[in-house]
Amino acid sequence: MNTAPRRWRTSAHGFNAMLLIECPWCGPRAETEFSYGGEAGIVRPPDPDALSDAEWADYLFNRANPRGAHRELWNHTHGCRRWFAVERDTVTNQIQRSYTLDGTAPEPGTGSGTASKLTAESDTTSRIGSGG
Ligand SMILES: [Zn+2]
Repeated sequence: MNTAPRRWRTSAHGFNAMLLIECPWCGPRAETEFSYGGEAGIVRPPDPDALSDAEWADYLFNRANPRGAHRELWNHTHGCRRWFAVERDTVTNQIQRSYTLDGTAPEPGTGSGTASKLTAESDTTSRIGSGG
C-alpha cells in the first residue's frame, strides 16, 4: 500500500510512474526538471595529503547503496537551479522530505531561502563546486 500523500502519487495503482520531487523553493515538480547529484552529506577531508590512497579513493568513489532510506543531492536544473537534499526510500521511491543544504525552510514559491530553521542535520555544500 502506498502511504505517500496523494499529491505524490501519479497513478491510480499506487506506484509512481514518474517521481515528483519537491523543490524547497518551487514546490513539487516532475523529476525531469531535476538533475541527480549523488549521495548527500559527503564531506571533503580537511587534509587530503594526510590520507592514504585507499582512504582518498574511498572518499572519491565509494558511496552507500542502501536498500531503504537514502539522502541525496538534487539540483532543480530546469527551475530555480538550486541544490537541495532529499530523503528518498530506494525501494518504494517515496520521498520522505526535501530540505535546503543550509537547513533553512523557505516558503515554496518565494525563492527567498530565508525562513525558520529545520531541526534536521545540515548537509555541507563542500563537495559541490569545491573543484579540488
Ligand atoms: Zn526550484
